[in-house]
Order: sequence, then structure tokens, then C-alpha cells
Amino acid sequence: MFENLQDKLNKAIKTLKGQGRITEINVAATIKEVRRALTDADVNYKVAKEITDRIRDKALDRKVLISVEPGQLFVKIVQEELTELMGGEAQGINIKGDPAVMLIAGLQGSGKTTFSGKLAAYLKKQGRSVLLVAADIYRPAAIDQLKVLGEQVGVEVYAEPENKNAVEIAQNGIALARKTGKKIVIVDTAGRLAVDEAMMQEIEALKRAIAPTETLFVVDSMTGQDAVNTAKTFNERLNFDGVVLTKLDGDARGGAALSIKTVVNKPIKFISTGEKMEALDVFYPDRMASRILGMGDVISLVERAQQAFDEDESKRINAKMRKNQFDFDDFLSQLQQIKKMGNVKDLLGMIPGMGKMIKDLDIDNDSFKPIEAIISSMTPKERSRPDIIDGSRKKRIANGSGTSITQVNNLLKQFDEMRKMMKKMNTMQSSGKLNKMMR
Ligand code: GDP
Repeated sequence: MFENLQDKLNKAIKTLKGQGRITEINVAATIKEVRRALTDADVNYKVAKEITDRIRDKALDRKVLISVEPGQLFVKIVQEELTELMGGEAQGINIKGDPAVMLIAGLQGSGKTTFSGKLAAYLKKQGRSVLLVAADIYRPAAIDQLKVLGEQVGVEVYAEPENKNAVEIAQNGIALARKTGKKIVIVDTAGRLAVDEAMMQEIEALKRAIAPTETLFVVDSMTGQDAVNTAKTFNERLNFDGVVLTKLDGDARGGAALSIKTVVNKPIKFISTGEKMEALDVFYPDRMASRILGMGDVISLVERAQQAFDEDESKRINAKMRKNQFDFDDFLSQLQQIKKMGNVKDLLGMIPGMGKMIKDLDIDNDSFKPIEAIISSMTPKERSRPDIIDGSRKKRIANGSGTSITQVNNLLKQFDEMRKMMKKMNTMQSSGKLNKMMR
């Protein structure tokens, strides 16, 4: 995410960090570099100028020149300003109402239907009852797509494939939710490839008729400045409550995330980082600023884990680890839960300093495939007691999984080391050493 911007900002600041003596000239040069990094990331020039002017004023005000750690202090100022630029505090969505109605608007292909599914899953996970309404009357495939997503996340989808009146469909959906006691209705709407007057009138009429609790505008972050312009047009007509930025897992340069708040004065509320239903995060400007500056975002990583991991399953596995009974079935289950958290490279990028290290590596979720294949080729007995896997069994497993004996050996070795580590932790814990170490 935003690798180029991250790279350039870090380079700009590094020259400052490396200076033995910092002068106003160094600071001015750094500021100029920061501004260039922002405009290269497709941040609106005016916005880039305003923020770098503020960074310069703050830097002078806080006496960066004579501080003990000028580089650190400068990074902190940039982090604060980026946070402010992206909206300051995180803004939640309003889910009060009976039912609360979420209207999802945006251009075709921006990711509305995918986001509707994700939002449903997110709210359901919080224990709320949700109904999805398919009000895209132009793309029959969108109805099917929403139905598939609904099934995947276990949320009912209301649709009227024959009806061409979006207002009626939405109203009927809301009435159904009221009757069946659903607390939140998410209305997925039709988009067009580009802004056009007919679409605007339709969505305006829909908004007027159903008076949503929350209108969310979905926009593809890869479209850079266009995303900002589209947001402006939609906001003038719809006066939406918040923005959802999608496809941040792609090579978006960051301009949209950094400029939208200033240009439309509406907060970004969610970001979407993949096609999987779990790849949705509440947008926290401060965490995003830290990520852009390569400081990582461990909090979001932990939250993503909490969303993806099944609590009962985690407890069960934890108990087995404590009894030194962790086996290949448990390992497979953990692997599957990790995969649910989203793209592995994106996850690793949330660890401080990691983003830069893995920038050029080709890591994707397919990397797990050989491991899964090897485990699937084991018998249940082999999975629970890997020590019985001898030479001929290894050969059979390698054949069955389409891997080599070396790959099987490597996995067995790693697994053994993992178990030894768990055992060590357990003994340390029972003797109280672990607590001491943690402290
Ligand atoms: P809609 O026309 O606005 O409803 O857009 P869709 O939800 O159908 O999304 C368009 C395409 O973008 C689909 O292929 C989605 O799988 C994909 N997509 C949606 N959100 C994301 C995202 O955050 N990351 C990536 N990589 N793809 C996404």
C-alpha cells in the first residue's frame, strides 16, 4: 500500500536524519522533497502545498533545528499533519434506527457490491441482524453477485429481479426488515461507468424516498485524482456521510486517501484491501499516517486477526498447545484462519519496518499451497503423530501432494521446531519464568 509514497517520504526525511548539523536550508530542501513525494502520489497540488507549509511552520516553531533528535521530531510532525489531512479522528457509521438504512452509492466497478457484502459481514460479526437489498436494476449479474456474497457471509439478500423500480425494491426491502426484526438494511445501488445525469437523478430520488441513516460513497482508490473529482460530484448531489476507499491492496499511489477529506470535507470511514469478505478495515487516519511513514500498524493487524479468528477454535488450539498436543490438523486450521485475514503481503506490511523489506518480494497466498497439499496427503494418524512418518511414508506424501521429499522434510523439520518452541514456552510458563521474561 502506497509503497512509492512511503519510499519517497522516507528518502526525504532520511537526508535530514543523517545530517550532523541541521540548518534551515536542509529543512527547506526536505520540505520540498516531501511536497514532491505528495504530488507524485497524485495529491492535489494545493493540498500538498498547504500541508508542507504547515509542516515547515511547525518544524520551525518546535525548534527542530536545535532539538536532540531532529529527524525523529520531523517525522512526528509529518505524521501529525498526515493524520490531520486524512481527517483526524476515526469516524464510525450511524447504525441507530429501526431499521438503520445504509445507502451504498458510487460508480460501476468501484466495489459497491463487494463492500455491501463486507459491511454486512462486519456488522453481523458485531452481533447485529442485517438484510442486504439488491437495488441494482441495470445489472442482473449484480443481483446474483450479491446473493453469492450474502450466502458466503450468512446474511439474507432481498431482491426483485423483475422489478425495474429501485425505490420500490428498497422500500419493500426495508418493510421486510421491519417485519422480520432486522436492525440494519444495506441497499446496494446501480452505478454507471462515468458520472451521468440520469444516474444522479436516480440515486437522489432513492435517497429522498428511503431517507437513509447513512449514505456511503464507494470509490476506487486506483483512480487517483479522478476519485477525488467523482467524490466531489456525488457529494454535491447526495451530500453523503462518508467515503469508502476500495482497492487499496492494488498499486494506488495514495492521492485519493490523502486529498478526499480536504476536498469534499467528508470523512473516509472504511478502506477495502482485497476481494475477500474479511478485507475491510475501519479507517483510522493516525494509523494510516504511520503506515505511510513506514511505522507499521500493529493495532490494525491485531484487529484483523480478531475478526478472522474463530474464538472457539482458537481456544481449542490454545489448549492443545498447552498440553503439547499441537498437531498438523491444528496447523492446517491455523493456516486457514490466517488466510482469511487477507493478503499475506499486505498483512506483513503492517509490521513496523517490514513493508520496505518485502516490497520487491513476490509473496502471495498461493505460497501456502504446497504446505496445504502436503498436510492433505497425510493420513489422520500421520497428522496427529508426525513422528511415525518414515522414509516410505515421506515418499508417498510427496507423490500424493505433487511436491518433493525435500519439501516434505522441510515442513516436518519446521513443524518439529515449532513444537519444541511451544514446549519450551509451556515449561517456562509453568515455572513462572515466562512472566518474568515478559515483564
Ligand atoms: P460495483 O460495480 O461497484 O458493485 O463493483 P464490484 O463490487 O462488482 O467490484 C468490481 C470488481 O472489483 C470486482 O471484481 C471485485 O472483486 C473487485 N474489488 C472490489 N473491492 C476490491 C478491493 O478492495 N480490492 C481488490 N483487489 N478488488 C476489489
